[in-house]
Amino acid sequence: MGYIMSRIKRLAVLTSGGDAPGMNACIRAIQLTASACNIEVIGFMHGFNGLLEQEYLMLHEQHVNNIIQRGGTILKSARCPALEQAGGPAKAATVLQQLNIDALIIIGGDGSFRGAMAISQHYHGQLMGVPGTIDNDVDGTDNTIGFATAIDTALDAIDKIRDTADAFERMFLIELMGRHSGYLSLAAGIAAGAEQIICPEFGPLSPDNLKHLIIPMQHAQLLSAKASYLIVVAENSYPGGTTALADDLTKASGIECRACILGHIQRGGSPVGADRILATKLGAYAVEQLLQGASLMMAGEINGQAGLYPLKKTGDRTKAIDPFLVRWQQQIGSF
Ligand code: ATP
Repeated sequence: MGYIMSRIKRLAVLTSGGDAPGMNACIRAIQLTASACNIEVIGFMHGFNGLLEQEYLMLHEQHVNNIIQRGGTILKSARCPALEQAGGPAKAATVLQQLNIDALIIIGGDGSFRGAMAISQHYHGQLMGVPGTIDNDVDGTDNTIGFATAIDTALDAIDKIRDTADAFERMFLIELMGRHSGYLSLAAGIAAGAEQIICPEFGPLSPDNLKHLIIPMQHAQLLSAKASYLIVVAENSYPGGTTALADDLTKASGIECRACILGHIQRGGSPVGADRILATKLGAYAVEQLLQGASLMMAGEINGQAGLYPLKKTGDRTKAIDPFLVRWQQQIGSF
């Protein structure tokens, strides 16, 4: 494959934070690429927990056969509060050293990469991140693994809600995941033709400033009295959540609004083609770059090109939701 000789004999991989469709495709690419270079691969279970507790398996080709199409992660994922406690990162580094692991690949979000940075204070091997989260809130890559699938999953649900909203002439607020970012809500909201989209990036929303939401709702009701009306809401956009927002809008507007929380359905499902390709590309690229000596970097993709980005900058939140789509949605008067 044209790789230079590397001192890496054994590398490890783990999946951490919220699971995302395509993580399995990435594990597969890592295993296959490493095997082709005669490198042993260890998979730690349950995120950083498996590293701290030495719960792992040797990953062979048979473990990654027929997983490219499967959602979730064969290594399981989890949060790991123990890594954030004093002594956690040092213990993780000791385990890596004891197991003779020359490099660790972390598939996860920017929180997981902070964990990697903490381990780097004590570990002499190489560390590489691969962005895997449905939230897409990681700097240094246009898209994270899982984001494209989550858009389609959300869209499928929103389209179904549209059918019943149309039949019953109702207003629905549909809450999507995203932690503190609106990538998923903006993308799925645009693709679903939502009448309004609410994201944290548009500024704080409180019971005192609902007027700008209500005026277009009332306007739409006057214009087409029996139409459905959908508002896509990113989680954490309103104090008390989307159900509280629906209640407050109902009281303030006199129009009955119903809340629908999509929840964890958005994390599941078979990864779409774009996620399988991205996961394969970034997993293979991560191994290739480790072999060339890279460390403390994330393997991302910008404008179709795989590239490295410093792990410590992945959570800086400099990547903005698409300004063109935001402006267009504003232009059509929806928020
Ligand atoms: P997602 O946003 O998709 O859930 P994430 O990787 O951002 O993914 P987090 O819950 O933020 O998810 O972080 C995952 C894990 O990373 C934490 O449970 C913890 O083990 C580790 N971690 C996060 N921040 C730190 C830190 N400052 N020091 C050590 N470990 C950390």
